[in-house]
Amino acid sequence: MKELRGIGVASGRTVGPVAAMPPPVGEPAEDGELSEGSDREAAVVLLDSSSSTVGAELSARAQTARQAGRDDAAEVLEATAMMALDATLLGDAKARIGQGSRPERAVWDAAQHVAEQLSSLGGYMAERVRDVQDVRDRLVAALTGRPAPGIPVRDQPYVLVARDLAPADTATLDPSKVAALVTEQGGPTSHTAILARALGLPAVVAVAGATDLADGTWVLVDGAQGTVVIDPTAEQRSTAGAKVQGQTSLQAVGATSDGHRVRLYANVGDPSGVEAAVAAGAEGVGLFRTEFCFLDRAEAPSVDEQVMAYERVFAAFSGRRVVVRTLDAGADKPLPFVTADGEPNPALGVRGLRTATGSPQVLGDQLTAIARAAAGSGAEVWVMAPMVATAEEARAFTDQAHEAGLPTAGVMVEIPSAALTADLVLAACDFASIGTNDLAQYTMAADRQLGALAALNDPWQPALLQLIAMTAEAGARTGRPVGVCGEAAADPLLACVLVGLGVTSLSMTPRALPAVGAALAELSQARCVQLSKAAVSSESPIVARESVASILNETP
Ligand code: PEP
Ligand code: MG
Repeated sequence: MKELRGIGVASGRTVGPVAAMPPPVGEPAEDGELSEGSDREAAVVLLDSSSSTVGAELSARAQTARQAGRDDAAEVLEATAMMALDATLLGDAKARIGQGSRPERAVWDAAQHVAEQLSSLGGYMAERVRDVQDVRDRLVAALTGRPAPGIPVRDQPYVLVARDLAPADTATLDPSKVAALVTEQGGPTSHTAILARALGLPAVVAVAGATDLADGTWVLVDGAQGTVVIDPTAEQRSTAGAKVQGQTSLQAVGATSDGHRVRLYANVGDPSGVEAAVAAGAEGVGLFRTEFCFLDRAEAPSVDEQVMAYERVFAAFSGRRVVVRTLDAGADKPLPFVTADGEPNPALGVRGLRTATGSPQVLGDQLTAIARAAAGSGAEVWVMAPMVATAEEARAFTDQAHEAGLPTAGVMVEIPSAALTADLVLAACDFASIGTNDLAQYTMAADRQLGALAALNDPWQPALLQLIAMTAEAGARTGRPVGVCGEAAADPLLACVLVGLGVTSLSMTPRALPAVGAALAELSQARCVQLSKAAVSSESPIVARESVASILNETP
């Protein structure tokens, strides 16, 4: 029996055949001309049959999506199926073949021409550029005998194995078909990990050698142990798939056993995630990641369109609090209408609030849209900016939000400088929410996407806990709420440590709410403080976990 090891980021045990995420389709070489005659005729025939195959595949997927009630996905797939058979695109490609281009190169250039035309038209048409590129890549893959790009499509559930997953890839992931996620890169706070927890899929990241697993190999994925067992025995298989028993929603408002209130909120990506947050009994939304509404956009969404997206979330939480984060564009979540290509270090680049310097209109429009959607919604809408480094930035954002009619404005503490100057930062705004995912990567100087550095990004790192403590203490001094909305809040034991450090709310993927609520309800506030002191003074994350566990075991 062979076993690969990585870092378990979402618990659960499941078994299934591997389906590998194909590598992206690259631009075909320009060299090599077809000779006249039969060569070119054969290339045209191949192009016709490839376009029929791609069109038929996309139509079949559209039909499946329609039957599953996923109308939005069905419409996109139907439109792309039509594009694969589009006479103008194919006519241009055939003309290029006639001039001697290889079919894959001809399709690439013809698609590029269509994409440029659509871009120049702007608006809705420009947003179709991605669809043209998707069809182009599918045609090139079919013409060159490679697997279709994107999340694999299979009839039976499978274990998705990838180098890493980008947010754009995961948008098309069908959770009824993907049994588990295994990636070679990524850390505990990478977007693969966040997605897996949101969907309740077992996941192991930073698995060296994962992409060497052949398609169809059976594996047992254990998201708690961080292992991937290759060709598991019948006995091992029989241990998989057992669903964790327990509650699926919060049983009471968040509080320690002696009644110290800690609000328990849900993190929401695009508005379709709001139902899960309501079903889990969240007390509100502690982090609405608005950039997830617009990831596929070439141009900034209009104010009206934003109002519609935000209203959906506010309506579901009428009477409760919703903390909206302004666009966190950049790094692994590029939005072409605000972020620049080709930065040498995108995570240290023009990201989050920093994009407002070059694109002030985008932030202005977003604040207008949030204020408009909030008015009359019944929800208590707070707004916060991502990637704030200084008190000056905090003040400028807060003033702008207040002027836009949003009375409660705060910042995310994701950069060590904000934690180190938390008294000043908090004095300049109304509240803070600690993004432990980024705060870990910037504190440890360890890219959160890199599997090799996953251990440094462990949310139990004492250095991270110290910065959280400093921020929470500054919150107490200035009388401002300080929550945590990074993945650290979703770990029931660590959540108790965070409460001990003084954070006033915890926001997490909806699925984690019941376990975190239950863990908190078992411990008094003094006990949480005792645990936090042990964790923060530990030498390493491993020692921190062990010390907390041993205190709980020794003195019940
Ligand atoms: C964080 O950095 O902890 C956070 C919540 O933001 P994101 O994961 O979206 O970067
Ligand atoms: Mg962040």
